[in-house]
Amino acid sequence: MRNAYTRWNGGLVVALLAASATLWAQRGTPDHPKVSMFGQDFTPLSIVTRNMGTSEDQTTAYPPHKVIDNIYYVGTKTLSSFLIVTSAGNILMDTTYERNVQTIKQSVEKLGFKFEDIKIILGNHAHGDHMEGDALAKELSGGAQVMAMAEDVPALQAMKPGGKAHPIDRILHDGDTVTLGSETLTAHLTPGHTHGCTSWTTTAKQNGKTYNVLLGCSLRAGSGVPPDVEAEFTKAFAAVKKLPCDVLLGDHPAQFDMWDKYDRIKPGAPNPYIDELTCHKERDIEEAMLHAIVSEQKAAKP
Ligand code: ZN
Repeated sequence: MRNAYTRWNGGLVVALLAASATLWAQRGTPDHPKVSMFGQDFTPLSIVTRNMGTSEDQTTAYPPHKVIDNIYYVGTKTLSSFLIVTSAGNILMDTTYERNVQTIKQSVEKLGFKFEDIKIILGNHAHGDHMEGDALAKELSGGAQVMAMAEDVPALQAMKPGGKAHPIDRILHDGDTVTLGSETLTAHLTPGHTHGCTSWTTTAKQNGKTYNVLLGCSLRAGSGVPPDVEAEFTKAFAAVKKLPCDVLLGDHPAQFDMWDKYDRIKPGAPNPYIDELTCHKERDIEEAMLHAIVSEQKAAKP
């Protein structure tokens, strides 16, 4: 009885801590304005909640699996991480929080790959939930090269888990390419969410056909959008609309309906990741939300 009570009590404490950490992360995100699209209502708060999930969602491995060709998902339930396998070693896109790096390593190994074969570490944007683990991942890989968009470098340099300096081995600029073996990724500056928010394009083959893969940066506006950030987002939306896309991936699985797609992976069935709707759905929601936030701001000011 006593043991059962202690266990129950311990479980409650863990649940409360997880809930409070999530609430803390979402604190300050307003539940307005509301945008209705694709048969659903969205607010800034609902989008953040959907993206981040609970603390447990952020740290629990999602089943690692092949997305298409040489691209694999190795992240947690709500924080994306991708392994791109090449003939000359592998590329890791997004290390997420430092506390997730061992989990990502285990997912890489579950798929039959070695973490030490990672030669390059890239990122979506300079926020802790996507790139905090770069230093530890570099160390565990045995010295992978960390590459980042110039405009995100100051924010990355300020990201020092446990006091570790953030490694940056190569500074990228809009349009630069990163090549390893037969794989080439192109970095596109799509700013707004951060100054150096980076959308990556590459191609993947399946059944003799070539598909355009877009690893899109977050297009989510914060609760306050000053004019310079609005100008950045305007550039980002124009840029991202020009990028070819048959397969959209992003920094949070909710942005590309990953959980639903994963359930639809079946031998002989079409690859659910090849999906034209996903390529523009999140972008359309975020663009409408940006305009709604800016209008609300303008209405509030005399
Ligand atoms: Zn972010």
